[in-house]
Amino acid sequence: MTSFNDLGLSQEVLKVLSELGFEKPSEIQEKSIPTLLTAERDFIGLAQTGTGKTAAFGLPLMERIDAKDRATQALVLAPTRELGQQIAQQLTTFSKYKNKLNVMAVYGGANISTQIKALKNPQQIIIATPGRLIDLIGRKAVKLNQVKFVVLDEADEMLNMGFKEDIDRILEFTPDTKNTWLFSATMPNEIKKIVDLYMDDPFEVRINTKEKVNVNIDHQYVPVKHSNKPEALCRFLDMIPEMRGVVFCRTKRETQNVAEFLLKNKYRADALHGDLSQNQRDRVMKRFKEHDLQVLIATDVAARGIDVNDLTHVFHFNLPDDLAYYTHRSGRTARAGKEGISLVFAAGKEKEKLKRLEKSLKITFDKVEVPDGDSIAAIRLQKWAQNILSTKVKGKVDPQFLELADALFGGISKEELLAKLVASELEKLSVDKSKDLNDNSRSRGGGNDGRRRGGGGSGQRDGKSRRNKKRPPQSKRRGEEGKRNYGGKKRSDGKKRRFRPKK
Ligand code: ADP
Repeated sequence: MTSFNDLGLSQEVLKVLSELGFEKPSEIQEKSIPTLLTAERDFIGLAQTGTGKTAAFGLPLMERIDAKDRATQALVLAPTRELGQQIAQQLTTFSKYKNKLNVMAVYGGANISTQIKALKNPQQIIIATPGRLIDLIGRKAVKLNQVKFVVLDEADEMLNMGFKEDIDRILEFTPDTKNTWLFSATMPNEIKKIVDLYMDDPFEVRINTKEKVNVNIDHQYVPVKHSNKPEALCRFLDMIPEMRGVVFCRTKRETQNVAEFLLKNKYRADALHGDLSQNQRDRVMKRFKEHDLQVLIATDVAARGIDVNDLTHVFHFNLPDDLAYYTHRSGRTARAGKEGISLVFAAGKEKEKLKRLEKSLKITFDKVEVPDGDSIAAIRLQKWAQNILSTKVKGKVDPQFLELADALFGGISKEELLAKLVASELEKLSVDKSKDLNDNSRSRGGGNDGRRRGGGGSGQRDGKSRRNKKRPPQSKRRGEEGKRNYGGKKRSDGKKRRFRPKK
């Protein structure tokens, strides 16, 4: 097994990696770092998000920058502000024990004059979003004529966002002698054109990540009418209050609408999309990272590059037009060896799209049901009761308050008191839970519900069908029978599932 020690990195960098807890290189790191450390040639790295590409190019870059030369020697282009900031942060960390390098991220949405002022101090590595860099070049705030390395990170995404012309122009300002390192999750024709135009006999590393990225992700779908999706989402959030997730929408407007619906119903949610100011985006991300928000509602573009490792769920409020995005989205969960659930809210034709996804990604979607009100109530009561029962009383309550409580409640029976407590707890469940939100209108187009139909959602999956054959059955992994099917209605014996408080 290769370790970071075998890749040719300096002691200073190895020390940082050990502090970061990076024990062994990811596949893309293992295959890229030795080449990027020494080769004077262009490079293509194809791997999905979440595979450790930043370190794959960032570590060699650290080693190859001449700390004594104050000129801008490396330029990293990234599609979004968040990604740019994260790259800058990681590069700064990687250089901790090396001679201090000047690293700066510049991106749109922030005050350009402040950036111009900061750029007066020469930056050896500039990380930029293409649009803002063009502006800065126009104002003569950056000089790229000494650049030795250009990194195009998430190149496919930059093209999707319409940055092709900006990239063309930026590259014109860089010397022909530079090395270009291109990283991308996919290799569409547009990228091939860039490669043909700007790269010279590139060394290519391709990580077959389709399967890798999907390892540990449970792909699920729930048939639900479009108009019922917001309420269905609430039910899932109610059912598993400890979940943390991103809800993907196609448009900014939809992102905003879903976030407003959730906020109105007192969920800890907020929207992340391109129309927010930099400050607003930073604030939302900070709250999410600090667990102040349970879910982010995001467009594909805004969520790209979010570096949050502990997401339990990715929700697809609707499927993306470009199905390649499904992999990017679902890769937001099950990061760094954890498990995660990718759940598609499938209305109408979306069920057909699932079939195509199953085929092209070699995955299987399991059908789940929208949790019904009874199941949610039962789970919530169970948690509420456990909370109360596990509270330590000794020394905490002043006897006078116990007396007061006794006087206040003393007049009613225990049964009556219990009924009132339960009723008041259940009132906290905000949206109407009486409606059946499952769309049973017609049979599905995708997913493997044929296999599950017999079980009616017993919480067991067909072990044979999974990519990850060694894993124990789902029910064991979740530790709790009800969770698999989010409190699905029937057991395999046809009886309604019951939730009992844990003893
Ligand atoms: P990508 O650029 O491919 O989307 P990142 O570089 O953002 O992926 O890496 C994803 C996450 O994995 C980050 O939080 C990063 O700190 C972490 N990471 C990267 N390489 C390693 C490694 N070798 N060991 C442990 N964690 C790693």
